[in-house]
Amino acid sequence: MIHQPYPESYYAATRNPDPGYPALAGEIEADVCVCGGGFTGIATALSLAERGYSVVVLEQNRIGWGASGRNGGQVIGGFSGEALMAKRLGQVAADLIWDIGWRGNTLIAERVEKYAIDCDFKYGYMDVALKPRHMHDFEEYHAELLRRGFGDDVRLVQRDGMRSVIGSEAYIGGLINRRSGHLHPLNLCLGEARAAAGLGVRLYEGSQVLAIEHGAQPVVRTSNGRVKAASVVLAGNAYQQLETRRLPGQVFPAGSFIIATEPLSEDLAREINPLDMAFCDPNYVLDYFRLSTDRRLLFGGRCNYSGRVPASIRGSIEPRMHKIFPQLRSARIDYEWGGSIGIVVNRVPVIGRLRANVYCALGYSGHGVNMTHAAGEILAEAIGGTMEKLDLFERIGHPRIPFGQAVSSQLVALGMLYYRLRDTL
Ligand SMILES: Cc1cc2nc3c(=O)[nH]c(=O)nc-3n(C[C@H](O)[C@H](O)[C@H](O)COP(=O)(O)OP(=O)(O)OC[C@H]3O[C@@H](n4cnc5c(N)ncnc54)[C@H](O)[C@@H]3O)c2cc1C
Repeated sequence: MIHQPYPESYYAATRNPDPGYPALAGEIEADVCVCGGGFTGIATALSLAERGYSVVVLEQNRIGWGASGRNGGQVIGGFSGEALMAKRLGQVAADLIWDIGWRGNTLIAERVEKYAIDCDFKYGYMDVALKPRHMHDFEEYHAELLRRGFGDDVRLVQRDGMRSVIGSEAYIGGLINRRSGHLHPLNLCLGEARAAAGLGVRLYEGSQVLAIEHGAQPVVRTSNGRVKAASVVLAGNAYQQLETRRLPGQVFPAGSFIIATEPLSEDLAREINPLDMAFCDPNYVLDYFRLSTDRRLLFGGRCNYSGRVPASIRGSIEPRMHKIFPQLRSARIDYEWGGSIGIVVNRVPVIGRLRANVYCALGYSGHGVNMTHAAGEILAEAIGGTMEKLDLFERIGHPRIPFGQAVSSQLVALGMLYYRLRDTL
């Protein structure tokens, strides 16, 4: 089986040198076999290795080949579906859910430092409001953040203060959070993989998992090898094709796309983003952007729920970027790319067990840089016998959309059309 190289992107072009990892050949054993080498898989492996487990990671292409190596690089606390989960599970669980939502940010910061990962990590993130309803939501969230001890790390900005934080007339205000931030996601993933390898994790690329033979000690099969393990973790997210009978109709692939400009002059970069923050609007079909370390604007959005790649990524995103930043009309576009995110109907990530010894974490609904890291820790704790956090996610039922993937994708696309209409109100 020929595995796929990294798709062309700003990240692939600027990735740190990495050793590459061999394809699996022959039969090996481990405590845990992780299927998928994105943030979920690597974070799980790292959390397990830090607890002394022997771990094998099987990635069908390259480490960070999926969404983890292509995303907006925005490290945003909280997670999708959090409010629904807190509402369903009540006040005691709400505190733990809140901690889980911010745990990924902490883990990333700790690992970047502990393992000296060079990935341009910096703090600074802003939610931007397009309409009064958004500002109202931010005010409530700001009050919650203050109650939770965020102090000076969070700040509401009204319309008259926006010029000092962003060079755009598109927004009526926003909420700055200095405990969220941005980074080069592929270099984070590669650095974490290197750290995991340093702790003894055996990583294999070009090693697609073809099947899992279940039993007291499951066997994970690739075309040239087998891994016997006490536990298996499925970490393929939107690229996941395994265990389709146990995970049917719950997680759907949707496309998200990014363009990168040429490096901007220092003046222009300072004008559009003087505090070098990452930005996101709260729409379902949202815009997100930030500067890279070499001052390109990475502008993403136009999430596509039909699963189709637009005929021109640049053609669908560049007009939107010009609307937000007319001063970039003459900026050359150097890169355009996209990837698949895993959407869940109720937006709560699917974290749990498919069988006594088969775990999964997927479906972050486009908000996964931090949450994949929290999920990795939750799975590692669960494999070690501490089920408290895993239980929370297992208590949330996930609606299934019937009729198979093709029809389901159409239904999801229809549902999202509704949300797109709602965004305009
Ligand atoms: C364009 C884009 C922008 C985004 N921006 C942001 C953002 O700014 N902030 C944010 O929080 N989130 C963002 N996201 C979402 C975030 O990237 C994902 O939630 C996160 O990376 C998911 O990580 P993962 O490891 O679960 O999945 P992935 O990174 O997709 O990794 C899954 C891996 O599993 C492998 N795999 C699948 N099946 C098999 C198999 N059978 N055998 C072996 N390997 C297999 C795949 O090859 C892949 O490498 C964005 C996503 C996209 C696509």
